[in-house]
Parts: sequence; C-alpha cells; structure tokens
Amino acid sequence: GSTIGMVGGGQLGRMFAMAAAKLGYRVGVFCGSSDEPAADVASFTVCGPLEDHSAIEAFADRCDVITLEFENIPAETIAACGRHAPTYPDASVLATAQDRLLEKSTLHDAGLPVTPFMPVHNADEACKAGESFGWPIIVKTQRSGYDGKGQHRLENPEQAANVDWEGGGDWIAEAMIDFEREVSVVVARRVDGQCQTFPVFENDHQNHILDLTTLPANISTETETRAREIAIEATRCLDVVGLLCVEMFVQKRNGEQRIYINEVAPRPHNSGHVTIEGCHTSQFEQHVRAICGLPLGDTDLVAPAAGMINLLGDLWGEDGTQPDWPAALSVDGVSLHLYGKHAARVGRKMGHMSAVGESLDDVTARLRKARKLLQR
Ligand code: ATP
Ligand code: MG
Ligand code: MG
Repeated sequence: GSTIGMVGGGQLGRMFAMAAAKLGYRVGVFCGSSDEPAADVASFTVCGPLEDHSAIEAFADRCDVITLEFENIPAETIAACGRHAPTYPDASVLATAQDRLLEKSTLHDAGLPVTPFMPVHNADEACKAGESFGWPIIVKTQRSGYDGKGQHRLENPEQAANVDWEGGGDWIAEAMIDFEREVSVVVARRVDGQCQTFPVFENDHQNHILDLTTLPANISTETETRAREIAIEATRCLDVVGLLCVEMFVQKRNGEQRIYINEVAPRPHNSGHVTIEGCHTSQFEQHVRAICGLPLGDTDLVAPAAGMINLLGDLWGEDGTQPDWPAALSVDGVSLHLYGKHAARVGRKMGHMSAVGESLDDVTARLRKARKLLQR
C-alpha cells in the first residue's frame, strides 16, 4: 500500500513518518492534538480520542496498513482499525505488552529467561516475594508505567507497608537483578516471519530514564549472539509483525554473563534512535520495510562505534530559554534531533543527539561534551 496509518503522535511516530516519507509513502497520523510531534511531518492528521471508534475507523479507512508508536492504546481501538486495514502489531500483541504479568508469563512459559516475578496485591504478598527472591525486590504496577513511574524498590518488609497498594491497581514483584549492564535488542519481523535484529545496544539509565545508548555493547560475542537469539524468539512467541524491542539485564555470575528479559515494547524504542546515523538502516526505516513487505535492510554499524544521548526538558531554562544549540552543533560529527515539542518539562524527552566514530570512548566523549555545551 502507499498510505501508512500511524496511531500516536509522539517522537517515535514523527521519526517513523520521516523514514516512511523517504521511501515515498504518505503517512496519516491519528493523535490527540495537532500540536503533537508527528503531526508536523505527517501527510495528514486526524485528531480524536483513542476511544472514539468511529473517528479511528474513518482514519483507518484512508490507510493501506496501520501501525503504532506506543503500546498503551486500547486493544479494542486497534481491533477496530483492523476491520479496515492490516494492523501491525495486532490487538493481541498490545493486550500482552500492556500487562507486565501477562507479558512476563507469556515469555516465561515459552522458555525465555525473564526476571523472576510474581503477582502481588498487598504488603504480605510482597514480603513473601522478598523471602522467595531475597531482598531487595522491586514492585511495579502491572499496567501503564513508563520511565520507572509506578515502581518502588523495597529493601525490607517494613518498606512494603509504605506502598499505596490500593492506588496502583494490580502489582507484580520482581527480583532485583544486580546487573552488570543493561542492553536492548530491536528485532524487525515481516508478515512472512522473516526476522532481522540490530546489534545489541548498551543502555545507561539516569533516574529510571534512558540517558545514553552505545554500540557495540560491551559484552562477549556469545552473549551478543544469545541476546539476539532471545530477542528473535520473543518476537516469534508474541507473533509480532513490525518492530519489537527487548530490554534485558546482563548479570555476571561465576565469570559468565547471564541474560534476563526485563520488558518488551512492540514499536520503535528510544535506544534504537542510535541506528539513524549508526547503522546502514535505521529502526524506523526497518519498521516501514517490515510492515510494507519490503526486504529488511542491513543492520550493521556504519563505523566501529555509535552512540545516542537523550535531551530532556531539564536542559531548558525555567522561563523556557532554549539550550545553546549552536554550541552543541559546533562539536564535530554530532547530529541533533529535536522533536518539535513546545513545552519543556523536567524529565520530558525533547530530543537526542547521536555520534558515530572509531571507538566507544570517542563517541561518548563527543556526546557528553556536546550536551554540556548546551547548558546555558
Ligand atoms: P520504560 O518503559 O520507560 O523502559 P518502565 O517504567 O516500564 O520504563 P522498567 O523498564 O521496568 O520500567 O524499569 C526501568 C528501569 O529500572 C530499568 O531499565 C532498570 O534500570 C531498573 N529496573 C527495573 N526492574 C528491575 C529489576 N528487576 N532489577 C534491577 N533493575 C530494574
Ligand atoms: Mg516499560
Ligand atoms: Mg523499560
């Protein structure tokens, strides 16, 4: 088809639309308001609440294929789209990815290594989880958390009493993994089942928000291969068409690297922004290729190393003063991406920068320098 529908108007939808336009597609965006980042670059935009099935069905009717940029879309909304055009991923993938318990159980039952978990509803059950996994544990709301919202690290039984168990809906408890590194793998899968992974990305979070992604990840060749295999198995097990990002912890035990899946996201991922300049094919172009039945692209690095650093609203002045863009752009080989968001808030993802180079040290040094120069 020649018109792709994107449900969601954030930066992921924006960068997807830019990649799709490059390949000659028209992109329609369905989102809450015409102010959203993807609306600026779309061929057409339809605004409405996600619950408005008649609006979204009229939108879907104008599209040849439909995709999305966030997994917390009501599964019924995507099912309604599916009456008008093929929808990748489909409603069943969303239903699983929206619920941490269902997601982890599904992957675990398929024999994949998932962080030890159990459903909990109150302090007593959290204490049982602590006894079983060992303290500390982490408790998370089963639904609708991102950037670490709705999570608590519990050091001991006393702290379990402080959680607002009634306020968060259902919860799960997880073993706290003393990981050596956090990594992610983005997989693209076509309708015919063909899969292609990107190299493993290494991720550094600050305050539960992704800060820096670098590749290649500093892991052994065996771990790299295993991580890519696990990600493909997860994609097949969930029957995803399009992209799946698999977030993982790498733990060192007796000199070996063990992998645990943390969570999955059936869409482009923040860590994958590094592929725009860092790999021959970007995650966004790969997504277009996967859902449009095109051959998947070469995912190899274009240089020995690549990196991506996030730009959060914290860099803006309280009075809305912009960061010093020319200063950052003066750093050789640094690419700037801004999402066109109007209001900067602390912790809000406003843009990112990337760099490619001869070594990880070189790439990270340039990114950190450029971000420092942004501060006024
Ligand atoms: P997002 O969707 O934005 O990635 P989220 O709110 O769904 O975030 P998680 O990915 O579950 O949250 O957790 C956020 C971060 O918290 C992880 O990337 C990791 O750094 C830390 N974390 C989460 N769970 C665990 C765990 N079981 N053991 C150790 N660290 C953890
Ligand atoms: Mg998440
Ligand atoms: Mg996560």
